[in-house]
Amino acid sequence: MPLSLHADTNTGRFGGLRAHLWCMALLAVVCTLLLATSTISASIDAFRKAQAGAENMRQFTAIFDAANFISAERGPANSLMTVADTGQTEARRRWSDFVRDTDAALRELERRDIPDAMIDDVHARLAAARALIGAIGQQPRHARRYEEIHAAIGAMFVARDSYRRIIEWQSGEILRRDPDLSAIVVQGIALSDLREYAGRLGSYLIAPMAAGTGVTPQDIAASSAARGRLLEVWDLVGPRSALPVSDPIRLKRQEAEDTFMRDGLALIDEQMAIGRRSGRFSLDGVSLTQRYVALMQPLGDMRNIYLTEIVSQFEAGEREALLTLYRNGLTTAVLLMLVLGLVAAVQIYILRPLLRGAQAVVALADERPAGLVTSPGDVQEIKRLYGAIGVLAQRLNERTLLTRQLEILATTDGLTGLLNRRALEDQVAAMAMDGAKYLILLDIDHFKSINDRYGHPFGDIVLRAIADLMRHSIGQSGYLARFGGEEFAILLESGSPPEAACKARKLRMAIERCPIEAPDGEVLTVTASFGVAGGAHLTWSDILAHADAALYRAKDAGRNRVRASRAPV
Ligand code: GH3
Ligand code: MG
Ligand code: MG
Repeated sequence: MPLSLHADTNTGRFGGLRAHLWCMALLAVVCTLLLATSTISASIDAFRKAQAGAENMRQFTAIFDAANFISAERGPANSLMTVADTGQTEARRRWSDFVRDTDAALRELERRDIPDAMIDDVHARLAAARALIGAIGQQPRHARRYEEIHAAIGAMFVARDSYRRIIEWQSGEILRRDPDLSAIVVQGIALSDLREYAGRLGSYLIAPMAAGTGVTPQDIAASSAARGRLLEVWDLVGPRSALPVSDPIRLKRQEAEDTFMRDGLALIDEQMAIGRRSGRFSLDGVSLTQRYVALMQPLGDMRNIYLTEIVSQFEAGEREALLTLYRNGLTTAVLLMLVLGLVAAVQIYILRPLLRGAQAVVALADERPAGLVTSPGDVQEIKRLYGAIGVLAQRLNERTLLTRQLEILATTDGLTGLLNRRALEDQVAAMAMDGAKYLILLDIDHFKSINDRYGHPFGDIVLRAIADLMRHSIGQSGYLARFGGEEFAILLESGSPPEAACKARKLRMAIERCPIEAPDGEVLTVTASFGVAGGAHLTWSDILAHADAALYRAKDAGRNRVRASRAPV
């Protein structure tokens, strides 16, 4: 039984519970990690998407910036081709500034992954157009011809159309990377086209104005085609469009409606009407360009605000995704720490103290000290358990003391303090069966008369005095017992029959010589008769019977003498 108890407390149930606990913790950790992996990877995806979106939009913005420079370059080019001879130098300087800006924007694009051939084509077309414009700009005002100016403006349109291939290629790239951006791309293109078609409308008036001729039917046809396209695009970016309805865009659209769509188109219509009628325009090319470019300004602004807003939306998404990523990472770390901390706490504050408690109970069962000490760090329940084990230890202690007392009572004679008969026989049973053992039985002579004469209590005093004398005489050389009444026994584990008889004789003499004072002052001489028996290979009952017989013979022979067994030993 103690064995199985040890096995259970040291390795069994608590070991199992600890293993279960760690298994569950491991499961919780795996589940947390799985959950974290999916949420964190979703956050990473969202972050990457927002990051890529922002980058795409920045690239898209750069593409449109260059487009805008090409469109805008037409303004000073037109001025240069229509300016009076006196203003030529200034107009050329302005045009050169715009040309430089366009080239810088295109160089910026060359650093990106746009196919070289497309950029080269734009460069070539621009170079061709600029050559024509530059040549016209060097001619005196009167020598400039309608066809040449018309061709130069047309060449600028071709350059811009060539650039449109870059916009389309870039749009395709963006949509391939993220099809969700299609609405944004379409809006971006529409806003860019809006500015382009508006510009073209003005440009159709430049050749007739510069050459001083009326507008041709081709100019009218081209102008109304551009106007139709412009109105279509305007509708695309109108209130029902997918444009974000943020305040800055809404306000800018309203401004464009009030300035360009009303005043700008009216200015074109007015000059076109004059050009058709007489060819004597009320404005020259330079002032038309100046006024018209100012009226077109909100269109370009709309596009800029839109792209800036889209980029900042993606950047906000980027920040939000990053925040979610941090939040998820932190939550996962906290969860993991909680799980591991919980298991460690259960182990430190519950399992280990329980194990110590179990070991203490086992120690108590084995009659060893429990050795349990509570520390301030112990939890309340464990303190109570240890307290209960302490009470158990105290009760067990009391019970052990009681048991010892009972054992003493059960094996000791109450009057003399010697072993009782049963204890002596237990002692015999514990001895080797075939080993030599000797028994000296002694019976006080005429004890009844002592009782009769001096009373029972004095008889008890005599019995105790004889017992003390025996104890003194025999010491540790044998077991002393009160066999019953006034009869005593001495069990010897070793020696020989003569030695046993000798011990009996010495004791007989000691009793005889021990004076005992009676209550009446008389000094009594107490004697006892002895029977001795024993040897190896004898049963206890034989030894007892032989010693008893020898004692009887001692009594018969007149008492106060020793008789040894006659049986062979
Ligand atoms: P004998 O020489 O033949 O042994 O004579 P005896 O008187 O000693 O023997 P008997 O058997 O007739 O008497 C024994 C007496 O011992 C009887 C009993 O009252 C007394 N006795 C037995 N136990 C005790 C005891 O515990 N205390 C006292 N005071 N007397 C006891
Ligand atoms: Mg007797
Ligand atoms: Mg007697």
